[in-house]
Amino acid sequence: MKARPSLIDVRLVSHSFTTDHEPVWALDTIDLSIKQGEFVSILGPSGCGKSTLVRIIAGLLPHQTGDVVVDGGSANAARESKTFALVPQQPALLPWRTVSANARLLLDINSKGPSQDSRIDDLLDEVGLREFANALPHQLSGGMLQRVALVRAFAMQAPVLLLDEPFASLDELTRADMRDLLLRLWERHQSTAVFVTHSISEAVLLSDRVVVMSGRPGKIIAIAMIDLPRPRRAAMEDSDEFTSTVKQLRTLLRGTAPS
Ligand code: ADP
Ligand code: MG
Repeated sequence: MKARPSLIDVRLVSHSFTTDHEPVWALDTIDLSIKQGEFVSILGPSGCGKSTLVRIIAGLLPHQTGDVVVDGGSANAARESKTFALVPQQPALLPWRTVSANARLLLDINSKGPSQDSRIDDLLDEVGLREFANALPHQLSGGMLQRVALVRAFAMQAPVLLLDEPFASLDELTRADMRDLLLRLWERHQSTAVFVTHSISEAVLLSDRVVVMSGRPGKIIAIAMIDLPRPRRAAMEDSDEFTSTVKQLRTLLRGTAPS
C-alpha cells in the first residue's frame, strides 16, 4: 500500500497557561503526525490537555514551543484557508435558527450560501433529520442536536474534522448511534479526523490510531494502532478482538489521572 502523506505534524509542542497563581503546564513535548484520511483519537483523562492540543492544531491557540505544520503551512494559515471543521462538545446551535439554517450556518458565514442547499438537504437526510429541517433547536433531543452539529461540520467539506468530545453529554444508546453515524459520514467524505474522547471503547471503534495521553501535564505515553477491519460498526464492540484491544488500552491508561 502506498504510504499516505502526513497532513498534520505536531513537533515537540509544549504549552503552559499563565494564571493569577502559578502557571498551568498543560502539554509536555507532544510529537505526533497525522496522515491524510486517517482517523486518530486522542484519549486521556480529564484535564490532560486534549482540548488544548486540538485548539493548537486548529490555529486557535498559539503554541509556545515546538512547531505545528498543517498541509505544509502554519496552523493559523490552515485555519484561515478553512482546513478545519470543528465539532465541539456542546452543539452550540443558534436557538432562533431552524435546523436547516443552523446546519447552513458555517456555509453562510463563508458566503457559500444557497448554492449548497442541496448538500445540506442530503446530509440532513443521511442523519435522519430531513423531516425536522424546519424545526427549532428546542424541539430536538440532545442526540438530534449533535447530529445537526455533524451536518454543519461535514457540509463545510473541510479536509480536517476536529471533534472535541462531541458525544460526551449523550446517553449510552444515543452515543452508539452517533458513533455509527460518524463512521458512515467519515467513510463517505474521506476527511481526516482528530477525535478527542475519554471513552476507550469509542476511541477503539472509530480510530486507525489512538494517542494515549497521561494526566497533567499531558504527555503522549503510547500510540496504539487499531487493526480491526473496516467498515466498523458499533455492533463490533462485542467481538473478542475488540474487547482485548480495549483491555490493552485500559491497562495503559491506568494510573494516568492527574494528581
Ligand atoms: P482536557 O481537554 O484534556 O480536559 P484541557 O486542554 O481543557 O484538558 O486543559 C488542560 C489543563 O489546562 C487543565 O488543567 C485546565 O484547567 C488548564 N487550562 C485550560 N485552559 C486554560 C486557560 N485558558 N487558562 C488556564 N488554564 C487552562
Ligand atoms: Mg477538553
